[in-house]
Amino acid sequence: MPNDIELFIDNRPVRVPAGSTILQACKAAGVDIPTLCHMEKVSSNASCGICVVELEGAKSLVRSCVQAASPGLKVQSASPRVMEARRTVTELLLANHPDDCLSCLRNNSCELQAIAERMGVRKKPFPRTRKPAKPDTIGLAIMRDNDKCILCGRCVAVCRETQGVSAIDFAGRGVRSHIAPFMDKALSQSVCVSCGLCTLVCPTGALTERDECDEVFAELYDPKKVVVVQTAPAIRASLGEALGLEPGSLVTGKMASALRRLGFDKVFDTQFTADLTIMEEGSELLHRLGNGGTLPMITSCSPGWINFIETFYPSLLPHLSSCKSPQQMFGALAKSYWAEKAGVDPASVVVVSIMPCTAKKHEAKRPEMRDAWLWWKEKGAESEPYFDVDYALTTRELARMIRRAGIDFAGLPEEDFDDPLGRSTGAATIFGATGGVMEAAARTAYELVTGKALPGIELEAVRGFDGIRDAELDMNGTKLKVAVAHTLKNARALLDGIAAGTSPYAFIEVMSCPGGCLGGGGQPVSTDWKKREARRQAIYREDRSLPERKSHDNPSVQVLYKEFLGKPLGHLSHELLHTEYKQRSV
Ligand code: SF4
Ligand code: SF4
Ligand code: SF4
Repeated sequence: MPNDIELFIDNRPVRVPAGSTILQACKAAGVDIPTLCHMEKVSSNASCGICVVELEGAKSLVRSCVQAASPGLKVQSASPRVMEARRTVTELLLANHPDDCLSCLRNNSCELQAIAERMGVRKKPFPRTRKPAKPDTIGLAIMRDNDKCILCGRCVAVCRETQGVSAIDFAGRGVRSHIAPFMDKALSQSVCVSCGLCTLVCPTGALTERDECDEVFAELYDPKKVVVVQTAPAIRASLGEALGLEPGSLVTGKMASALRRLGFDKVFDTQFTADLTIMEEGSELLHRLGNGGTLPMITSCSPGWINFIETFYPSLLPHLSSCKSPQQMFGALAKSYWAEKAGVDPASVVVVSIMPCTAKKHEAKRPEMRDAWLWWKEKGAESEPYFDVDYALTTRELARMIRRAGIDFAGLPEEDFDDPLGRSTGAATIFGATGGVMEAAARTAYELVTGKALPGIELEAVRGFDGIRDAELDMNGTKLKVAVAHTLKNARALLDGIAAGTSPYAFIEVMSCPGGCLGGGGQPVSTDWKKREARRQAIYREDRSLPERKSHDNPSVQVLYKEFLGKPLGHLSHELLHTEYKQRSV
């Protein structure tokens, strides 16, 4: 390429685009430089100092993540001086670090642990300089243990740059430096939206999801409980990766099989209620369009996004669809429709969700999410109040449960979900990727309005990883402009347009996480966009493989309306499937 430059890494020539860093040049040369603070597509503060390299003619070592590669530069990536410096940096980090590896959630997936091993650290020669920190464990979704924090700054950068939230920052100076929310409050008392992206990027166990595996095992061992599980669309494209299979492995059947072996009484699918969401949300959009309702209407299935708009843009709440997320629709139906149909006491039903998302833990415990209990109460049933969803586990937690139970995941047979809450269409599968809800809604809304199928069922314009994408649908002469955003920083740009009265859109999809749920904060720890792309491809493969690809074609959803709900937006739908949002004050 004309703009390429040539330099030398360990005496071997390599060509890279002008503007590359030395770290990128080393990667191109097949040299793996260790890093602890660097991240793809997020600015680096070069704080950790692990990635140092030696340049010919230079007195000091340089940090390869921020130093530009230049023509003719001669780089030594693993000279004795470099290796000694990296080992010393690691030993200094370990000086203030507890020796908790065996009981740490990040044992075996910790970058600090891996680097200490790689650097051959066998002792801790430096004394501790920091006072032990008190863990912050009161939140429903995210746990913090600043004792394990190495001040790499990744969490601060991702929260500010990717999410535009800035819930946490550096605080204190010198040995008192630490990461904290405003005024050193607990994270759950800050503007944090529980998206969990910080847990994805944290190299250590300093930021993790609230682990609920023990509680779920206890429910599974309780003979008085009927434990049913639902799995979000994106899990089938990422669980295999969490268990050592290739990124992008599609493990739908093995996942169902593993869940049965863990002891779940019924293995259902959140995709069933993703299809239902399209029926309800599509009808709501058409109703708003036909009756002068608030537009643009914005999707409401991503709970980090709901926390964000409730915190930062409360005046725009009327734009949200009143539909609950598919997780919450499922919980309400499992403890009403399904419990009644199966003749099971709803108070004994435990609903466990497997989600790509830490914010789902928070959503499940919103005080208003007890609609099945209210529905039974109105029918005269007496019991203590219960939530519609009892536990929301992340992909990482399910992977830990499968490992703990000693299940040979790769060798499992493929099994189907149980009926009726396990049947779904390709439209539901693509909820797992940014743009998927919009495409699924278009497949149904277009057909409902025009009586014809959407030409070329795949809506390419809303696919991909660009931050904001838009499209125009022509419905019998009515042009409908729609937009899709992933990450909250991009959502902010669309909300600012609505607030300014300049938004040209009728319908907007927002997903909190990079790439949508496939890049959710509860997914296997990685910020590698190639892995996200592999998961995305897997989701679209699944869509193409399913017999039905439009939500309104789901036969079990049709039966649900016929025998229980009546019609979309009907009285029972409002009772069980819709909700209200309110300003969140912190
Ligand atoms: S954060 Fe890493 S190094 Fe620290 S205790 Fe946990 S596994 Fe060990
Ligand atoms: S969970 Fe999300 S919003 Fe909260 S601190 Fe982490 S990145 Fe920021
Ligand atoms: S909490 Fe984790 S990501 Fe944040 S600075 Fe500490 S080690 Fe880095």
